[in-house]
Amino acid sequence: MRKISIFGATGSIGQSTIDLIRRDPAAYDVVALTGGGNIAQLARDAIALNADLAVTAYDENLPQLRDALADSGVAVAAGQAALIEAAARPADWVMSAIVGAAGLAPGLKALEQGATLALANKESLVCAGKLLLETAARYGARLLPVDSEHSAVFQGLVGEDIEAVERIIITASGGAFRDWPLADLKNATLAQASSHPNWDMGQRITIDSASMFNKALEVIETREYFGVSPDRIEVLVHPESMVHALVGFNDGALMAHLGAPDMRHAIGYALHWPQRRDLPVARLDLAAIGQLNFAEPDPIRYPALAQAYAVMERGGMMGAAFNGAKERALDLFIAGRIGFTDMAEITARVLDQIETQSGLIDSAMTLDNVSRIDHIARNAADAAAATGIR
Ligand code: NDP
Repeated sequence: MRKISIFGATGSIGQSTIDLIRRDPAAYDVVALTGGGNIAQLARDAIALNADLAVTAYDENLPQLRDALADSGVAVAAGQAALIEAAARPADWVMSAIVGAAGLAPGLKALEQGATLALANKESLVCAGKLLLETAARYGARLLPVDSEHSAVFQGLVGEDIEAVERIIITASGGAFRDWPLADLKNATLAQASSHPNWDMGQRITIDSASMFNKALEVIETREYFGVSPDRIEVLVHPESMVHALVGFNDGALMAHLGAPDMRHAIGYALHWPQRRDLPVARLDLAAIGQLNFAEPDPIRYPALAQAYAVMERGGMMGAAFNGAKERALDLFIAGRIGFTDMAEITARVLDQIETQSGLIDSAMTLDNVSRIDHIARNAADAAAATGIR
């Protein structure tokens, strides 16, 4: 039996992972499941999967979790230290599906105990790619991509020499506002931004898809994970979300990965890697689909994309600053304190302010320094919002 843990078990990726695990329960020994506020779901899954431990990220939820799991035999814990302790428990395979920079510390701890880390939490790579990859190498652990685009590239590179790769193209649906008049974007509501044309995902990544902050993070994730230079990474708007990524080689070949927009494909690939197993995802009927469309992303509609390239050009710890500012701007939009287009205004201002602080941006990539920059970027985002964006 494989020992597995799922961080962010109550979220969209966590639930899709559990869906796959529950189809073959005898194959898995579940060590830890973690969640945040959704205690009922966490407790239900911990019982159904006979987990050793259930952890909520928030101390105040411990009594509720303890009540829900009384007499179940599942141990309970709460708080940041408990998340790290859960990640330190030996496991063969760990799903990293906490949303945001909060996923970094548990992911690093899981790598330190030699686990295979299935990484949905792209923010980890954006904030601290070098640190994650070095930690994996030092402890003989493995990092497998779960983002659908990066899983697609990873699959396209099997048996290939990375030196022969000319370019990597990741696709973007264009999100909820792809066809909106530009002038209407500033008045887009939270409800409108929280609906995705193709994918069923958590609220934060859905809004990030509408703004393309999600794709901006993924461009940086591509650079960190595959080590290709930024000028070799391209983004195409592809409204059907069926071609997830393409890898272009030096002989002109362009290898595309196609699949239904269902995260259980990428999760299942990482779960069974290096084998392929039957997965409960729809099979594409290309004749019925008829046509697939591609277009260049509009830089005015999606300013976050250019910011990602500027972040990579500056290097150092700019990724952590970008992600921290982005997370805070998103919090402010969700709270109704700023408009949709203000988010990219805020991240632009924070990047301008921070990029010249070389003592900060060029400091050593440690977990403490990443947290420090994340904190500074969030405060700078608050300050930018307070000085009035609109
Ligand atoms: P969700 O918002 O659906 O789930 C997030 C999970 O993290 C939940 O279990 C939540 O707990 C938990 N959580 C939230 N905040 C914290 C915190 N501060 N500390 C610890 N745990 C926390 O997100 P998704 O599943 O959509 O996304 C998860 C990650 O996967 C993100 O990094 C996202 O970018 C990435 N991803 C997601 C895809 C998707 O299809 N959804 C596709 C590709 C990547 P609770 O709900 O109990 O509060």
